[in-house]
Amino acid sequence: MEWHEATCFLNGQWRPLGEATISVLDRGFIFGDGVYEVIPVDTLDGIRAPFRAHEHFARLQRSCDSIGLANPYDEAKWLDLLDAIIERHPWPRQSVYLQVTRGVAKRDHAFPAGVPPTVFINTSPWAAIPAAQIEGGVAAVTHADERWLHCDIKSISLLGNVLMKQYATDHDAFETVMLRDGFLTEGSSANVMVIKDGCMLAPRQSHQILPGITCDTSYLLAKEHGLTLELRPVSEAEVRSADELWLSSSGREVLPITTLDGRPVGAGVPGPMYKRMWFWFQEAKRADARRWQARKSTGARGAMAA
Ligand code: PMP
Repeated sequence: MEWHEATCFLNGQWRPLGEATISVLDRGFIFGDGVYEVIPVDTLDGIRAPFRAHEHFARLQRSCDSIGLANPYDEAKWLDLLDAIIERHPWPRQSVYLQVTRGVAKRDHAFPAGVPPTVFINTSPWAAIPAAQIEGGVAAVTHADERWLHCDIKSISLLGNVLMKQYATDHDAFETVMLRDGFLTEGSSANVMVIKDGCMLAPRQSHQILPGITCDTSYLLAKEHGLTLELRPVSEAEVRSADELWLSSSGREVLPITTLDGRPVGAGVPGPMYKRMWFWFQEAKRADARRWQARKSTGARGAMAA
């Protein structure tokens, strides 16, 4: 099955992706008035499962609350829809995208009354993360963070992030690392972590960055394995003198950045700490897959524990 032959979920109905349509007056289209999630699905030890499903739906709830949008479903219903869309497709690795917008109404900035949200879910095959990126790292460039100050909301209004990703592309890089007032924020579509003298540094959660599920997992793994983790402002100088620099996202897991603005990061190759984290991360995915299988096999319809 090709990605465009997928079945998607739109406002309570399953349809072929190519036949799903929404109104031109949808506030997602007109204003970018909506929120979204991307959930990775992988097959490990024969179990096909989403990673950190509960955390994604918890973040979706926070995003909805932040913009005054009623979440149309509770977590149990979202989990059932997630399971349903995965099962409708043959791909062992999938990237599930879901979006909720403030619905269809006559164009007016203020929220419309009594309008149901638009709910869209689709999935596509998620290609393996290239071995060349895991083994050789990726290039990044820096840029001032010129986005708005609610980057903690997973908003579909992604123009600032799109421009930053294009900036990376235009400079033959994979990602743009953004700095605000001399301190690290995040990448255009990833969080960024620094390794210095055996210590892991990353900005603490604030309105300036997305609370990434992948970096949160990395922080947990670091703590579990006895690494020192400091969540605090990380200066541009610390970014530029890092022994290792990592980016993290659902689509790329954790990847080493080996050049920054054309200069090598540390030794210019993925560092020893990265290799350990990569291994721990795969173990965490296995553990999560077993929890997902347990939820399915017991027929438990409730939410998943954190
Ligand atoms: N920051 C931004 C701006 C992102 O778009 C993403 C990817 N969704 C992330 C961080 C990483 O978040 P996660 O690990 O939850 O995918």
